[in-house]
Amino acid sequence: VSGELPGLDSLGDIDGCRIIVRADLNVPLAAGNVADDSRIRASIPTLRELRNRGASVVILSHLGRPGGRVEPELSLAPVAARLRELTSFPVSFVGDVAGEEARHAAFTLASGGVLVCENLRFEPAETTKDESQRAAFAAELALLGDAFVEDAFGAVHRRHASVYDLPARLPHAAGELVRREVSLLSRLTGDPGRPYTVVLGGAKVSDKLGVIESLLGRVDELLVGGGMCFTFLAAQEMEVGSSLLEADQIDACRRFLEDAKRRNVDLLLPTDVAVAADPGSPGEVVPVERIPQGLRGLDIGPVAARAFAERIGRAATVFWNGPMGVFEAPGFAAGTRTVAEAVAGVDARGGFSVVGGGDSAAALHAFGFPDDRFTHVSTGGGASLEFLEGRELPGLTALGY
Ligand code: ADP
Ligand code: MG
Repeated sequence: VSGELPGLDSLGDIDGCRIIVRADLNVPLAAGNVADDSRIRASIPTLRELRNRGASVVILSHLGRPGGRVEPELSLAPVAARLRELTSFPVSFVGDVAGEEARHAAFTLASGGVLVCENLRFEPAETTKDESQRAAFAAELALLGDAFVEDAFGAVHRRHASVYDLPARLPHAAGELVRREVSLLSRLTGDPGRPYTVVLGGAKVSDKLGVIESLLGRVDELLVGGGMCFTFLAAQEMEVGSSLLEADQIDACRRFLEDAKRRNVDLLLPTDVAVAADPGSPGEVVPVERIPQGLRGLDIGPVAARAFAERIGRAATVFWNGPMGVFEAPGFAAGTRTVAEAVAGVDARGGFSVVGGGDSAAALHAFGFPDDRFTHVSTGGGASLEFLEGRELPGLTALGY
């Protein structure tokens, strides 16, 4: 992380130009409809600004993981329809990514028009590790416009053709969303207000090893819930029943616990958990020392949730990634809801709060918390974690950052 991100101004006069925007329109779908349009809404400011400057726009995005094959249920057509509903833009859709049909649609795009191309990941060359295939695909994509704008923050950690190879071929800039994400997340890696408290949850420790390691050098408190807390509890010689456990990460968790002590970081684990045979069964709260054999910890318990909320309530800066339990099941959502309520209080009293992660954001929306109760709800899960970890993000490197 070194340079500055070039903004739209750096493109100069773009009146009459056709601008390619790599957007993150990777939204959850339910029965062919857009289930949560937050990412579509988040991409609108850049599109509006480009149109205000007289440009037409060609949008490239991925949706889901079709694995390089055409999967009709992962078409971006319903997403284009929602973008049309949300704006007054003349939005059209072409069922092709970089081929003849897409080029024709782009070349005939009217001034001020917005064209959404089909799912990038229908093409194996988008995600391949073969650099020459990616380069060839990027060269085809580059024909669609005069300049490139990166606005897919949720994808900047991917070394994919549209993210990494394409910007090198055209004048390029960062869009409004990418600039906002980077400027807000930079406040967490810079000099955050103290105490700085990070709450981590979600399914797996192994997803988040790198970020835990780097956070231990920066935070004052690390609160760990969700499925990952059981590997930490096992590292303290506790029996975790049938809870999610990554046996091969126990040593790593033991090292994190020692590292935290050495660095004077409070690493808090739950003292109680709600257990059941499965998320559909009624839960029972037990102390973590007494998780019955055969049962799974599916949420942090009420004592732990209150303890976490109290820490969050005293923090000046909070970053939260990963639900505290299987919040999708009503019986195991309480811990996540209590934490969400506490994090929502941080901004209200002048603190700085960031929520990252697709499932974490989905939990907020499911509980009815509007995004504006947080300083920032990141559109990137993996990308926000890798940013905090200080890793190189290919999509930002490609812009000279
Ligand atoms: P995010 O998308 O916010 O980064 P993750 O993808 O890491 O979050 O994790 C989200 C998933 O973790 C949720 O689907 C949730 O059901 C699951 N989860 C949380 N706690 C547990 C637990 N105790 N046992 C099993 N799964 C859990
Ligand atoms: Mg997730």
